Amino acid sequence: MPSHLYIHVPFCDGKCHYCGFFSVVAAPSVIDLYSTLPAREYDCLLARLPELGKDALRTLYMGGGTPAMLGCEGLKRLADALAERFAFDTIEEWTVELNPASASAALLKTLSAIGANRISIGVQSFDDTTLAHMGRRHDAQAAITAVKRAQDAGFANTGIDLIAGLPGVTPSLWRETLDRAMSLSLKHLSVYALTLEPDTPLAVQVAAGLELPGDDAQLAALAQAEAALGEAGFARYEISNYALPGFECRHNLAVWHGHDFLGLGPAAASRVGPARWTNSEDLEEYIHAVQNNAAPPGTSAALDAAEDASERVIFALRLSEGIDPAAEALRFPAWAGQARAWEQRLADLAIHGVTERKGHRWRLTARGREVCDAVLRELV
Ligand code: SF4
Repeated sequence: MPSHLYIHVPFCDGKCHYCGFFSVVAAPSVIDLYSTLPAREYDCLLARLPELGKDALRTLYMGGGTPAMLGCEGLKRLADALAERFAFDTIEEWTVELNPASASAALLKTLSAIGANRISIGVQSFDDTTLAHMGRRHDAQAAITAVKRAQDAGFANTGIDLIAGLPGVTPSLWRETLDRAMSLSLKHLSVYALTLEPDTPLAVQVAAGLELPGDDAQLAALAQAEAALGEAGFARYEISNYALPGFECRHNLAVWHGHDFLGLGPAAASRVGPARWTNSEDLEEYIHAVQNNAAPPGTSAALDAAEDASERVIFALRLSEGIDPAAEALRFPAWAGQARAWEQRLADLAIHGVTERKGHRWRLTARGREVCDAVLRELV
């Protein structure tokens, strides 16, 4: 078992206009049925890959979708089924994603009782008009109440997600959202740039003439966020993630540091040794397969040692700490032959102002973070 486990809960009470994540609106009977399936999927995997059972679990991340759609009883069933397979006493961080509309006091009490210790709330904006335009099913006050409820339930480690560059959000409106966020005693913020996902209501609106903020406006909104959060003591430790010291998301850090992780549920991805696989975004097929003790359908690949190491190393460039190629070469001997070439390419990119060297480490500059995907493509 990799030490890092992700559980995808693919249910929502509607669809936000920009959302490209796999989630569906499902009947209560389907939601009830789902709660024990990730654990049963693990049983199928273990039969094929017995080595999965060897490591202690350190982080557990329940995302979606909206895990709260399982309800208190469903979440307990999910946790109980997992606890029968994994030793929970080694878990350092257990995150549950919540939506403001579903963060009831009873649900938060249940999450605390089952052992979760980190809450991540999808807020996106504190402007009611923007929330309504994006198809969110809550207002700003509900988001504020959700944060306070999480904190009152004992979740000292509570964070929120925001989206920069939503249509209609002026710099002053964005500043109000950032100020509101800073007033909530949060420990972590994710600030994502709006991306236009295909086949979403937002894509349809854009095709019909809705104008999205241009690249410059979006970059300005991200810079505004970095400045405001920096003033409040939040460090930008990854391209889209900010934390007070000691509150970085350990689960995501493990992924970016190139460690193995296991994902259970439809659409969940896994990296175990040289193997990569991603379950299909098809709930019906997932349920059918797992109920019949079969692996859910999806895509898979087996990387050779050098490809595997390259992929693990490159993720870390998303982090502000960057990478030390010499140290990575020691960690991944199969990659050692590429270390010198990477150093050269990173140095070439530095001439264009997108990478910089600090001591032994290379990292992206502010400009490099803006064009991160292109930089990473240059390296592989
Ligand atoms: S709540 Fe999250 S997962 Fe559900 S539709 Fe909205 S953005 Fe997507």
